[in-house]
Amino acid sequence: MTASSATAPEKFASAAIEKEPLSRYVAPAKPSLVGYSRAEMAEALGSVGVGERQQRMRVQQLWQWIYVRGARDFAAMTTLPKELRAALAECFTLARPQIVTEQVSADGTRKWLLALPGEDDGRPHEIECVYIPETDRGTLCISSQVGCTLNCSFCHTGTQRLVRNLTAAEIAGQVVLARDQLDDWTLADIPAAGERRRLVSNVVMMGMGEPLYNFEAVRDGLAVVADGEGLSLSKRRITLSTSGVVPMIARAGNEIGAMLAVSLHAVTDELRDRLVPLNRKYPLRDLMKACRDYPGLSNARRITFEYVMLKGVNDSLADARALIRLIKGIPAKINLIPFNPWPGTIYECSDWEQIEKFSQIVFDAGYASPVRTPRGRDILAACGQLKSATEKLSARERLALRAMALTD
Ligand code: SAH
Ligand code: SF4
Repeated sequence: MTASSATAPEKFASAAIEKEPLSRYVAPAKPSLVGYSRAEMAEALGSVGVGERQQRMRVQQLWQWIYVRGARDFAAMTTLPKELRAALAECFTLARPQIVTEQVSADGTRKWLLALPGEDDGRPHEIECVYIPETDRGTLCISSQVGCTLNCSFCHTGTQRLVRNLTAAEIAGQVVLARDQLDDWTLADIPAAGERRRLVSNVVMMGMGEPLYNFEAVRDGLAVVADGEGLSLSKRRITLSTSGVVPMIARAGNEIGAMLAVSLHAVTDELRDRLVPLNRKYPLRDLMKACRDYPGLSNARRITFEYVMLKGVNDSLADARALIRLIKGIPAKINLIPFNPWPGTIYECSDWEQIEKFSQIVFDAGYASPVRTPRGRDILAACGQLKSATEKLSARERLALRAMALTD
């Protein structure tokens, strides 16, 4: 289908702004300490009889084992008394999110399908997590929800019906799991190895879900990821992407303090209402005001505006000029994202020539405008292609997508 049919009003008239998330799931009887905050660890220690006066020191030790050394077994925690190790193992685990499949793209991108506690019949909930190696960094793209309650019309995740919020531990757990898989833990026995460059150097919350619809868990999970004595990713290397949940943007700045990316994608309300239906609730005027007021905004801490390039929909040169006018005065970067197609979508990616012309206008206006090269297309790992196997693609659909990736 061509992009022009995307503008047919009847396609969008019924698109609800949001779906209801599941309020319950069945947690395992023996919880995992992986992803826990210090307060939760203190509570866990209390529950196995560690007195309050000892808790602080024991939390420090557990923290070091779990988040610096990546311990997977209580028995390995030699700084803890043997009885305490046994008591912890009685009641807790160090389980990571379970890997269902791992795919490695020809360009080195890795995608993990992860199973999380789910339905009472034992069926897990699934999310995807993607690692993108580059020469100067390694970026881990993590999820905040199973699916997404929002229905952006160009996003595959938005078509998934089942939605549940991740816990803070499940959010931080994705970083722990990536460090395991990439063998990216500090090797305390080899001092120099502690200095080696981290493979996971950046985290972007651009996987499944709308992070600002799961605010507390995202805030608490990212606090674990950013803790300087543990996983230690600086907040400047953590980016939270939102589709524009205006009332939560100031809180995100104050309480999370990560870098902010805003999924803009259109410069008029008329078009944005169709691409990002949440715009009907929080229109551009309000969104831009929230961006201008973002706590800590400065030239050193710019907002990234994401703009997906949809052929014949939002990619005219007039759109490019209107984009510049819209963000005028905001310290910003612009990320032009070539649209990643998925089976059944009504959109097409803009032609490269058009993306280049669009990008030139943005660049001439003084904005860095890297065109985000699609990564991992052959394994469906690119932005907006994430959709867990709960609603699996057929083998034929996957082949079709792979073919598209190879012929691009
Ligand atoms: N829900 C958040 C974060 C997850 S989506 C948000 O919307 O910002 C991460 C980014 O991928 C967003 O900018 C989103 O608009 C973009 N995206 C979604 N589907 C896409 C697709 N098919 N092709 C390219 N980018 C897409
Ligand atoms: Fe949800 Fe973001 Fe996809 Fe929109 S683009 S449906 S907010 S994941």
